[in-house]
Amino acid sequence: MKKRKVYLDHNATTPLREEALNAMMPFLKEIFGNASSVHTFGQEAKKHLEDARQKVSLLLNAAKPEEIIFTGCGTESDNLAIKGAALANKDKGNHIITTAIEHHAVLYTCEYLEKQGFNVTYLPVDAAGRVDPENLARALTSKTILVSIMHANNEVGTIEPVQEIGGIIASENRKRFDQGLSKIYFHSDAVQTAGKLPIDVRKMGVDLLSISAHKFYGPKGVGALYIKRGTPIVPVLHGGHHERNLRAGTENVAGIAGLAAALELSVSEMGAEQARVKKLRDRFEKWVGENIPDVKVNGHPSDRVTSVSNISFEFIEGESLLLSLDIEGIAVSTGSACASGSLETSHVLKAMCVRPEVAQGTVRFSFGHDNSEEDVDYLIKVLPPVVKRLRDMSPLWSKRATGK
Ligand code: PLP
Repeated sequence: MKKRKVYLDHNATTPLREEALNAMMPFLKEIFGNASSVHTFGQEAKKHLEDARQKVSLLLNAAKPEEIIFTGCGTESDNLAIKGAALANKDKGNHIITTAIEHHAVLYTCEYLEKQGFNVTYLPVDAAGRVDPENLARALTSKTILVSIMHANNEVGTIEPVQEIGGIIASENRKRFDQGLSKIYFHSDAVQTAGKLPIDVRKMGVDLLSISAHKFYGPKGVGALYIKRGTPIVPVLHGGHHERNLRAGTENVAGIAGLAAALELSVSEMGAEQARVKKLRDRFEKWVGENIPDVKVNGHPSDRVTSVSNISFEFIEGESLLLSLDIEGIAVSTGSACASGSLETSHVLKAMCVRPEVAQGTVRFSFGHDNSEEDVDYLIKVLPPVVKRLRDMSPLWSKRATGK
C-alpha cells in the first residue's frame, strides 16, 4: 500500500489557509505601520485593524466592535478573561466556578487564583463529558463573581450547554440586581468551536468569550477575547494604551487580518464543511466499532463537535499507537497537544470516569478541511495491523485472548 501523509490532529492546530495568508501579506510588506502611530503609515494600519475588529464582532454577533480585544493566543484570551474579571471584582466576592474538563489555560489560571485567595469550584461532568446546568445552579453562592465553562471540549468534543447556563446566570443576576448585589460574569472558552459551531455571544449569554486563529485555519500567535460592554476587567499585560488599555503591546495587524479572514470563511462554509467532515468521522467511527474489538468512543454521541473522534483502544498504550501511526504517515494525538508527552492520564477522561487502564489507550483523531475519503480508506487499512501488533505485545491481551 502506498504511504500517505494524513493529518488528523486539527484540534491541536490547523494549516494556514491560502485566503488567510493572502489577507496577511500586505501587512507583512507595504502596510507595516504601527497602528498606534499618528502618521499616515500608522493610520492606514489602524484602519485595517478596525476593519478586522468590525468583521469579528459581526461574526460573533457582538453589539459593538469595541467589544473585541485582540490577544496573542487562546491561552492569553483565557488568562485575560479569568484573571482580569476575578481581580476586577475581588471586592465583590472571591468565588469562581469552572469545570473539571477545561483546557489547562483555564484550569491552571484558576489554580493560580486559588493561591491568591480565590475559591474555585470545579464542576463534575457525566460519562459523556457534559456539565449538568442544575449542578451549576446549586454551586452559585453570594460570593460567586465568575463562571467559566468551555463551549466544547478539546479532547472529546462534547458540547457544553452554554446557552442554558447563560440563562441560569442571567436569571440569578436579575435577582441579585433587585437585591442590590453585584453581577456574576460568564466566560466561555470557544477556542475549539469558533468556525465549527455557530457562535452568538448574545444568545449564549456570555460576558467573555475566547477564540484562537490557528484552530480555524488562521495564523498561530493571534487570538481574540469578546468582552461585553460594561464588564469590569483589569489588564494582565501592562504597557501602552493598546486595545482600550486592556492588552498592551503593538497589535499584530497581519495576524489579526488573517484571523478575521479565516473566521469569515469558516463561518460562511460552516454548514457544508462540517457536514462533509462529519461524514468522514462517522464512517471511520462506524468502521472501527464494527472491525476492532474492545474499543470505546468517548464523548457525547450527538452533542459533539463533528470533527472529533476520541477512541480508547483497550490493551494498548495511546503513545505507542500514536508513534506507530506516525511511522505510517498518520498524525493523531493522545490528548491536548499541551498535555501530550506528559504520559499523565487525561484529566478529561478521568472526570468522565473512564477507567485509567482504558484512558491510557486513548487516541484523538480530529478531522478537518484537508481530509478526504481516501484518507479514511488509508487510515482504516493501516489501523488494524498496528492495533494487532501492539496488542500482541500485551500480556493482558494474550490473557484475555486465551481466557487464562
Ligand atoms: N482552550 C482550548 C479549549 C484549546 O483547545 C486550546 C488549544 O489547544 C487553548 C485554549 C489554547 O489556545 P492557544 O493554543 O491559542 O493558546
